[in-house]
Amino acid sequence: MAQQSNNGICHFTEAQGKQLHRQYQLVSRLHTALEEGSLSLHFQAKVRADDGVLVGAEALLRWNDSQLGPVSPAEFIPVAERCGLITAISAWLMQQAMSELKIWQQAGLDIKMAINLTAKDLLCETLLADIQAALRKSGISADKLTIELTESSVALHPQLAAQQLQALRARGISTELDDFGTGFSSFSHLRKFPIDTLKIDQSFIVDIALSAEARAIVQSIVTLGKTLNMSIVAEGVETLNQACLLRELGVDILQGYFFNKPACSVEFVEQINSWLPL
Ligand code: C2E
Ligand code: CA
Ligand code: CA
Ligand code: CA
Repeated sequence: MAQQSNNGICHFTEAQGKQLHRQYQLVSRLHTALEEGSLSLHFQAKVRADDGVLVGAEALLRWNDSQLGPVSPAEFIPVAERCGLITAISAWLMQQAMSELKIWQQAGLDIKMAINLTAKDLLCETLLADIQAALRKSGISADKLTIELTESSVALHPQLAAQQLQALRARGISTELDDFGTGFSSFSHLRKFPIDTLKIDQSFIVDIALSAEARAIVQSIVTLGKTLNMSIVAEGVETLNQACLLRELGVDILQGYFFNKPACSVEFVEQINSWLPL
């Protein structure tokens, strides 16, 4: 917050000034990102816990701006949401992710693709049309697409969100509740939302080998999810030990640096091919 002094003039601290300047830069550069082609996608593997088989990939946005350099999605996605650019960016990313999946399919890789959407995207009137357009254009069937949403984005307007989720399900698209456990999980909401999968946040995975409490939290999320007929994903899996513990706890799908670091499409396929002769 800016401070108001005796003479009624607002003063920003130096840190606030810097932050405002950064926001301004991000908004003005983000407007050119789609035209300049400075956005791209990286992919991370989703692996079945039982046997290590690759079942999907998550698309993660990357922005390498010619003036600002690489900017983290954790920084620019909220900015894109606030300045109204997110709908165009998400429509681009759907098209891009589906056309990469088509290339992989043609090379014999039959997996699902997960994309991340924001609260704004979920509530947007054109969401279903944008998804259908991306599917039609690429010739990908709806059951190959998963939408990842955070708890906070579905909780913002629960009724509208539930309708949209229902519409996605009716079209055969899967939905995954991302960063599960970190938001304001309302179990009553959970029961009403047609969600297929819970993705346990990486903060619970990081100390699972050391902390009985972390294991207990994972165990209770698994029990809750299974009771509601959902499948369970764990993200941020960095070690073999974590992978084994999560499998024992009943987690279905694993994702993290232990399997691969997010990489561009070409590198992703190389990473996958180097796993094959197991
Ligand atoms: P998220 O959806 O929870 O994605 C997981 C983040 O954890 C990614 O960071 C990923 O690179 C990182 N990660 C994956 N495995 C590991 C691991 O083993 N250890 C650690 N420490 N980290 C791991 P990233 O790519 O920087 O994305 C950050 C967040 O930005 C994402 O969190 C998501 O909320 C958002 N985001 C990324 N791409 C998109 C997008 O296309 N659309 C939207 N709406 N949001 C996106
Ligand atoms: Ca995600
Ligand atoms: Ca996550
Ligand atoms: Ca996250």
